[in-house]
Amino acid sequence: MMTPKIKFFHRKNIKMALFGALLVSLTPGSFTPSSLFSAETLPKPWLKISSHTLLSGARDFTPQPSQELTFHHPLMTIRVYARKFIPGEPAYIEVIPKEGENLDHYQFSFHEIEILLTRYDWGYRGFFPISPYLNDQIKKTKDYMLEVTPPGHLAHLEKKYPLSIYKANFFTSRTTLNVGKYARSEKTRQELRQIEEGRKKKSQAYATLTSNMINNKISHPRDFHYITSPFWSKRIYARYKKKGGKKIYQKPRVSIHQGLDFRAPEGAPIYAIASGRVVLAEKLYYEGNCVIVNHGNAIFSVYSHMSELKVYQHQYVRAGRLLGLSGETGQVTGPHLHLALYINGVPVNPLGFLSLPIRN
Ligand SMILES: [Zn+2]
Repeated sequence: MMTPKIKFFHRKNIKMALFGALLVSLTPGSFTPSSLFSAETLPKPWLKISSHTLLSGARDFTPQPSQELTFHHPLMTIRVYARKFIPGEPAYIEVIPKEGENLDHYQFSFHEIEILLTRYDWGYRGFFPISPYLNDQIKKTKDYMLEVTPPGHLAHLEKKYPLSIYKANFFTSRTTLNVGKYARSEKTRQELRQIEEGRKKKSQAYATLTSNMINNKISHPRDFHYITSPFWSKRIYARYKKKGGKKIYQKPRVSIHQGLDFRAPEGAPIYAIASGRVVLAEKLYYEGNCVIVNHGNAIFSVYSHMSELKVYQHQYVRAGRLLGLSGETGQVTGPHLHLALYINGVPVNPLGFLSLPIRN
């Protein structure tokens, strides 16, 4: 888990806003295979999904509207948005100061983890994770605290607001596996070296801390929408070996899917979901050809198993930028896109991100 120490950052995306305005005026078209090749220069059409937010969409995808909670503090109004207030969802927060109030030195946290905010001319905004790990603590619903801490701990301005989180219904699948078939489960020295190298490179990538780069334009990662494996689904592998025609069961293996799988035939375009800087673009043992984008304020998106990369490390990318072409590199059984999103090191559902009414 990262414990970033950044506080507030000022906006610096005026040029981006102008660029976006030009794109909005393009007429929406349909996505045909031939349009794949122009994807790099001509992004998908932009749709307005809230009064401030533009989404570069995908066929068969309409983002669910987000839910909103409002809290009234003597010096500010706080609005919190999420597709659903359940574990595993990314949440978006706006803090609007009362006339003339400066809240630069206020601290905000959810469930005791600091929320990093960015300053705009209308107030402050940021993102925080509703950790999927909370689900085990919740029977039906449970309150977690959103805290406002003033500088100097002025007691009368210190407030706690309960945020009701509902239990999520994560998907569980059971697979029976003949481990005799996979006898070669021991990894070779070379493979172990590749795994260790990948681990180091990833932790280096996640260690890059920068100010916010997310603006009001976000993008679906594909040109059409089809989920093949949902977020946080639990896969239970009942493993057995055959001995004399009898199945001898071993300890089941449980794995949790910390991302989202999208259908993506070999060579299909993969797009950045938000603006940011590429902090990793190379082949790793498990992820195959992988791109990690740093969106600032400890938010990272990860795109795995690509056949070809179209960006390089340190490159700045806008939402909707072609990152690569889908494939089946790394430890997979077929071509698809595995997309993961982390906020403060906590995995969240990337689909929830596409519902947030982000503004600049
Ligand atoms: Zn996956």
